[in-house]
Amino acid sequence: MEKKVKKIPCLSDKPCDGHLTFKRVDYAIKLKDKTVSVPNIEVWECNLCGERFYPYEASKKIDLYKEYSGRLMLRLEPELHWKLARVANKHHRSLNQEVNYLLENTLK
Ligand SMILES: [Zn+2]
Repeated sequence: MEKKVKKIPCLSDKPCDGHLTFKRVDYAIKLKDKTVSVPNIEVWECNLCGERFYPYEASKKIDLYKEYSGRLMLRLEPELHWKLARVANKHHRSLNQEVNYLLENTLK
């Protein structure tokens, strides 16, 4: 006997006979002067009307991207800047990569 997969009906406010399928998409958001892509967002999409419904975790991730651009202006003492450049060079990383690496490992 064939296993019947239960379809999730569309949740649109407008009348729609479609059903939802699960997808992972890149979600584009507009921030001030540019468009940023939020990668790998989980979404339920209607096969008929195309309306998308975002699970709580996906909405949270999108909000995070809206609030934090990932660009940060940082002031350092010249000596610390120099030390950081030396360490980055030693690891064959850019300054940006080195700061990312150090912060990722410090904030775990
Ligand atoms: Zn629909």
